[in-house]
Amino acid sequence: MPLHPETLALHADNELDVTNDVAPPLHPSSTFRFPSDPDQLVPLRLRSAEDKSHVYSRLSNPNTTRFEAVLTSLLKAPSLTYTSGLSALLGILVCLKPRQISIAKGYPGCHGTIALVSGLNGMKKIPLDCATEDLGAGDVVFLETPVNPTGVALNIQEYAEKAHSRGAILVVDATFGPPGLQDPFKHGADIVLHSGTKYLGGHSDMLCGVVATNNQEWFAQLKKERFFLGGVMGSLEGWLGVRSMRTLHLRVLRQSESATKIVQWLNSALQLHDTNGVSTKAESQIIKAALSSVTHASLQTADLEQGWLQAQMPNGFGPVFSICMKSRNMANKLPSKLKLFAHCTSLGGVESMIEWRTMTDPDADPTLLRVSIGVENWEDLKSDILQAFEAVLEDEKVAQ
Ligand SMILES: *Cc1c(COP(=O)(O)O)cnc(C)c1O
Repeated sequence: MPLHPETLALHADNELDVTNDVAPPLHPSSTFRFPSDPDQLVPLRLRSAEDKSHVYSRLSNPNTTRFEAVLTSLLKAPSLTYTSGLSALLGILVCLKPRQISIAKGYPGCHGTIALVSGLNGMKKIPLDCATEDLGAGDVVFLETPVNPTGVALNIQEYAEKAHSRGAILVVDATFGPPGLQDPFKHGADIVLHSGTKYLGGHSDMLCGVVATNNQEWFAQLKKERFFLGGVMGSLEGWLGVRSMRTLHLRVLRQSESATKIVQWLNSALQLHDTNGVSTKAESQIIKAALSSVTHASLQTADLEQGWLQAQMPNGFGPVFSICMKSRNMANKLPSKLKLFAHCTSLGGVESMIEWRTMTDPDADPTLLRVSIGVENWEDLKSDILQAFEAVLEDEKVAQ
C-alpha cells in the first residue's frame, strides 16, 4: 500500500537517517571526507549517479538532501532546492533558455528575474493570454496559480493544452497552492516551482526555492547547473525545511479552511440579498461600510460550476485572499488596528499576516490589502477583523 502524503511528510527521508536520533541532526559541514580506503577514491567526474555520498555542500549536504527527499515524495516529482524562489526561477530559465516567456502580472519579483535573463540573452516577455500561434517550440508558459495577490485560481489544464499544442513548456508557480491543495503535474504541468519561503517553510524563518520535474534530462541539467549558479540552500535551511514538512498538511489544510470561512463571512455581508449569509445583520453593516470587495478562488462561482476548479483544488482553496477597502485611507490604517495579524510582506506562515500591498508592489490598487491566514482559531481572526473595521470607521467619523 502506498503511504499517504501526510505520512510521507514524516517518513520519506527515513532511509537517509544515518543516526538513531528521532529529530534530524543539523550538519553544518561545508565539506566531507573522501573514503579512507585509497581503492575507493573515485574522482568526482567519474562518479556514478547512484553514488549519493556528500563531497562539498554546494553539490549536496545531508540536511537539504533529506528535505529534497520529502519534497520529491510530496510534489510527486524529483525536486531540487535553491536559496530562494527567485533563484529557483533563475535555475529554470538558465536550463530551458526559452526564446519567449508567456506570463501574467502576478508576483512582481519574478518579472525582475525575467528582466535580468532578458538582458543577458534577449528572451522576450509576452502576455499569458497571447494567441496560441504566438507560442513556439521551447517557449515557456509561466502560470502562477492561485494568483498573487487576489488568491484567484487559473485553469492549469487549459494552459497545459495551449502550451503543448505549440511544443512550449508549462511551468507552474504553485507557491499559493502547496501540496495538499493542488498537484499541478496531474493537470499537465512540466515543471513546478515553489517559493518554499511561504507554505513549505511555513514559519517565516527561512528562504527557499523548489523546482520539481519528471523530465529526467532537465532534472539532471538543473542539478548540474545549480552547482555552478551556486544558489544552494544552507544546511540550517535544509534542517528547518524538514522540520516544516512534518506539519505541512496540518497547517495548509487548516489555513485553507479558515481562509475560506473568513472569505465566505465577508462576502455574505457584501451580498445585499443573501438571506442565509454567515454574517449577522449588525456585522454586515460594519463590513459593508468598510469593505468594497473580496477576491478568492472560493468565490469563482462560474468556474466551480464548470467543475475544473474543484478538480484542481479538491481539498480546499489557497489560504491567501485580497480585500479592497472603501478608501485608500482605510486601507492605510487597517493593519495598525489589527491585533492578530502581522503587517508585513510575504505569506504562508503559521501566523496570520496582512499587507497593504502598495508597500511593496508599485502597481497595486492603493485600497488593496493581501491577507494570509495562519493557524490561529478562525473565529478569533474574524473578531479581530471586525473590531479593526469598526476602528477605521470610527477614525473616519472623527475626521469628518
Ligand atoms: C515569494 C514568491 C516568489 C519568490 O520567492 P522568494 O522565495 O521570495 O525568492 C515567487 N513566486 C511567488 C508566487 C511568490 O509568492
